[in-house]
Amino acid sequence: MSEEIIVMNPATGEEVDRVKKESREDIERKIDKAHEMFKQYRKKNAHDRSALLVRWAELIRENKDEIAELITKENGKPLKEAAGEVEYACSYIDYYAEEGKRVYGRTIPQHEDDVRLVVTRQPIGVVAAITPWNFPVAMMARKAAPAVAAGCTFIVKPASETPLSAIRFLDLALEAGFEEGVIQYVTASGKDVGEVFSHSEKIMKLTFTGSTAVGKTLMEGAASTVKNITMELGGHAPLVVNKDADLDMAVEHAVATKFRNSGQTCVCANRFYVHEDVAEAFSQKFADRVKTLKVGNGLDEGVEVGPMINEDGYDKVMRHISDAKDKGGQVTAGGEGSKDAGYFIEPTVITGATDDMLIMNEETFGPVAPIQTFATLDEAIEKANDTEYGLAAYFFTESYRDGIRLQEGLDFGVLGWNNGKPSAAHIPFGGLKESGIGREGGPEGIEPYLETKITSMKI
Ligand code: NAP
Repeated sequence: MSEEIIVMNPATGEEVDRVKKESREDIERKIDKAHEMFKQYRKKNAHDRSALLVRWAELIRENKDEIAELITKENGKPLKEAAGEVEYACSYIDYYAEEGKRVYGRTIPQHEDDVRLVVTRQPIGVVAAITPWNFPVAMMARKAAPAVAAGCTFIVKPASETPLSAIRFLDLALEAGFEEGVIQYVTASGKDVGEVFSHSEKIMKLTFTGSTAVGKTLMEGAASTVKNITMELGGHAPLVVNKDADLDMAVEHAVATKFRNSGQTCVCANRFYVHEDVAEAFSQKFADRVKTLKVGNGLDEGVEVGPMINEDGYDKVMRHISDAKDKGGQVTAGGEGSKDAGYFIEPTVITGATDDMLIMNEETFGPVAPIQTFATLDEAIEKANDTEYGLAAYFFTESYRDGIRLQEGLDFGVLGWNNGKPSAAHIPFGGLKESGIGREGGPEGIEPYLETKITSMKI
């Protein structure tokens, strides 16, 4: 009997479904298929590839409710957020359906009279992807859409917690008319798939979204075949509230960035630095607003914050809360959790945060906002940058001068200035330092799937 991956509902602790755990041979067979199909698919012209992507997005939108419900059942996020994720995923398909038609080469003025120089672009080859559970379809679409728009074949391993929505999403690609072998998935443990993907000579590109620790392992493996890599890794986003910030606006955006997906996004604000002149006012308004958030099963009407994905995630967040309390933090909203049925944690605000707290140093991945005060902007920038991560950072200020100082001083790849949602399909997204290598979204997002050739012709 083949092994299975059991998919659990984190809001109820009940089984949702099972999928086959594929063997090494299964995975290699699919890689072979992708490799064979690449020879054919690379010849399909960009406009025909675009038409397939357009049809795929249409089918996904027609099945949006079903996919959103699957996301909520396996991931826990509220249904409205899940539907938003499906639409967000489609926006990448829409974007790259167009961007694939704009993969331009160029000519270079010759340096000798009888030479002509032509630069051409071509698809890199078979692309392998590994994706996380926090955005089961969107993180995949950000990779699949530019890869197949560029003329690559694509094979993805979704996270074991959330394979169901990913499978439904990818099956629709076949329905849309992509030939078998152009877009495939494998379901098996990350460790097993990672080893096969990173060492395979048939895979030219490895693109990963997930934790920095796993990203480092994959980079080591990919070195064996000098594979082209994209790494979208962990974050530890600071959120700075300057003394002249519009506090009501800052509170609304802070709630959006902190509690989306129950705090389980790579760009969630993880630590708050608030100017001492406005710290009390901001903390009070923020805690009052956080107390209004409705926690529960994402399928229930009006729920705004769902459960943690699993027991490990729950335990880590609770450890961060108790460590902060032990070190003098005051809980001004929430603070309690329960894992009797599902893994729920109240949206939590902790004031009096200090540099030695775990939560100020590690990615929490949960609905907890620690607030520390600062006196000068230089101090805030220094603290914000004092991390190995460099993915997202947020700052709130009405001052053009201070805003520019923050924009230039913060070492992060994605900045939100008075904006808690700085991501979209047409925007390049990615991290500095140990948050990653490469960008997804925007014109930059198709580059990783292309190779450059120069032809020097003697005439
Ligand atoms: P994770 O543990 O790194 O898992 C991500 C994926 O990697 C899953 O599909 C997992 O498979 C697989 N995996 C696990 N161990 C592996 C190994 N040894 N080799 C190859 N693959 C392996 O991360 P996660 O807990 O799912 O996601 C949370 C992390 O992702 C956070 O750090 C977050 O910041 C980051 N993230 C980053 C971005 C970004 O754009 N920068 C976006 C979203 C999330 P299994 O499920 O089978 O274990």
